[in-house]
Amino acid sequence: MIDPSVETFNRLIRTELPARTPRLFDTACVLGGSIAGLLAARVLADHARSVVIIERDELEPSGQSRAGVPQDRHGHALLPGGLKQLERWLPGVVDEAQALGGYLAPIEQQTVYYDGRPRAQGGDAKLLLGSRPFLEARIRDRVLALPNVSVLSGLATGLIYTEDGRVSGVQVDHESLSADFVVDAMGRASRLSTWVEEAGYQRPVLVRMPTGIHYVTAHFERTESADSIEQACVLGLFAPRTMPADLTVASACVIEDDQWQVMMMTYEDNPAARSVEAFRSACRDLPPIFQKATTGELTRGLETYHQADSRHRDFTGLTHFPAGLVAVGDAVASFNPIYGQGISSAALHASCLSEYLTTDPDLTTPATDFFAHQKVITDAAWTLSAGADAARADAITGTKAPAEVEQQRWALNQIIQATLTDPTVTEVFAAVTAMDAHPATLADPAVLDRALAANEAATAPRLG
Ligand SMILES: Cc1cc2nc3c(=O)[nH]c(=O)nc-3n(C[C@H](O)[C@H](O)[C@H](O)COP(=O)(O)OP(=O)(O)OC[C@H]3O[C@@H](n4cnc5c(N)ncnc54)[C@H](O)[C@@H]3O)c2cc1C
Repeated sequence: MIDPSVETFNRLIRTELPARTPRLFDTACVLGGSIAGLLAARVLADHARSVVIIERDELEPSGQSRAGVPQDRHGHALLPGGLKQLERWLPGVVDEAQALGGYLAPIEQQTVYYDGRPRAQGGDAKLLLGSRPFLEARIRDRVLALPNVSVLSGLATGLIYTEDGRVSGVQVDHESLSADFVVDAMGRASRLSTWVEEAGYQRPVLVRMPTGIHYVTAHFERTESADSIEQACVLGLFAPRTMPADLTVASACVIEDDQWQVMMMTYEDNPAARSVEAFRSACRDLPPIFQKATTGELTRGLETYHQADSRHRDFTGLTHFPAGLVAVGDAVASFNPIYGQGISSAALHASCLSEYLTTDPDLTTPATDFFAHQKVITDAAWTLSAGADAARADAITGTKAPAEVEQQRWALNQIIQATLTDPTVTEVFAAVTAMDAHPATLADPAVLDRALAANEAATAPRLG
């Protein structure tokens, strides 16, 4: 029997547009105009006379960093699963991004390392490279070009409800705005849970996974021409001598305006964050592409970011929650960013919203079906990233997980190990990490058998 979560996941990752888009609302309101909010607004534009995005920051058309998105100074990979959804909702956006300086890296120009060793290349997924403000600006330009979508500049401070338990509006800078449907896209610090609780409803259950990550990112002028780029995106786990003994993840990506964006992430305070010299020095311990990427002039100084935990708010199973209210993006789940799942997850939340709104929902009751679909997506991402964080935490403390979990971890490690030598295993694993296949794919015994055979062949002594 097919796992119903897999079936739902496979439906939600489809890329065709819905066959019918019933008009359901006069005004739909999205709180937060970042990537998750913009993509929700794109879907709502099919179902509402007017969609109003409320955003506290001024939204610059040029794609500058902004206060409401402090993570936007750091490397953001757009995984293939998310890229497909972007192109689904905004056809042609990838071509536009390329025309404006974004870089579409073919598989041959992408390298992933584990423990300093390059992974075998598998599949043909392309990566769209660009800074986070650049990617957001491409999405924003397209969504705000829709005739029925507008932005209202202001701070959302609460919701308005009808007596029979539906959301009927939003408080913006203490003024009231009527709305038939409201989407929370206010990011990981969203106060929605507090708002609904204060109004007498249940708050979603919040799960936190401690991570304690430190990011440091710098931008450098790219000296080689676009024609001579050999590697455009490199990401991996390394142990440079100059860094703390614990795991370091580093990436170097070609981005717009002829720049390299170079990032290092550690689980301890990051010595490379102290100066550009320390940063360049740490890069000298990495594969040569990191030295190449950091030789040009600094175009943007070191930026740091610390995140104590990953968060997941579970809206399923709530028995007393307002109708006409959903949440998307980081407001629902904010993962360990090193797995690069946030934007793709947000894009798939837009798919969940479309599925919900195109299946004649009863809008007088809570959006239970929407939250059930969304949980399939967030669970898929959470299983992988929070699962790896839990394994790492247990390894540090010497804690034994239940036998079944230990077995799953062992199998996953075998698969990861096999990606160093077997392109087919890489293709399967990469599709899951790219949010283009459900994690249950990795539980297929044929995948593990192939991984074990590849690992045995890699360690067998060579004859002759
Ligand atoms: C260091 C780092 C690196 C990351 N790298 C990647 C990556 O490589 N790939 C990837 O896919 N994801 C990555 N992510 C995750 C990614 O940034 C988010 O998942 C993505 O931006 C979607 O976020 P969002 O739109 O839900 O929320 P956010 O981007 O956080 O935006 C929330 C918006 O709501 C607005 N807002 C908040 N409160 C209010 C209010 N009361 N009224 C009005 N407006 C309000 C804010 O101003 C902001 O515009 C990374 C995250 C971090 C921290």
